Amino acid sequence: GRKCHLDGNTMASRLLLRGAARALRARTGPLRPVSRAMALGGIPTDEEQATGMEKKIMQAMRASNDPFNVFKPKEYAGTKEDPHIVPSVTNKRIVGCVCEEDNTAVVWFWLHQGESQRCPSCGSHYKLVPHELPH
Ligand SMILES: [Zn+2]
Repeated sequence: GRKCHLDGNTMASRLLLRGAARALRARTGPLRPVSRAMALGGIPTDEEQATGMEKKIMQAMRASNDPFNVFKPKEYAGTKEDPHIVPSVTNKRIVGCVCEEDNTAVVWFWLHQGESQRCPSCGSHYKLVPHELPH
């Protein structure tokens, strides 16, 4: 009857809201543990808690070519004279720029060996330098 129909709608919109909240968390949260681990210069330790994109990034990092490394060194200004130094074992790699300290969106772009390149969003300078594989 009519009551059943209304109840069904209420339930559907509740489910929809839950799904949206989950999607939002997945979109805004995934990179923080990785960048914290990198800032400490260590191996990610909270892998147990990692899910989704986080896990993919950690697996890629362990695969040693490190394509998703989130690199946000504080010792470089990111200007033309003082670009962010990005170590790489190949002549190109993907760089994730957080642009601003509390930004939840990461700007990904390819960085090639040679001239320094700029983040397409905030204009920070990045320079790729040769880097030996850690043993
Ligand atoms: Zn940027």
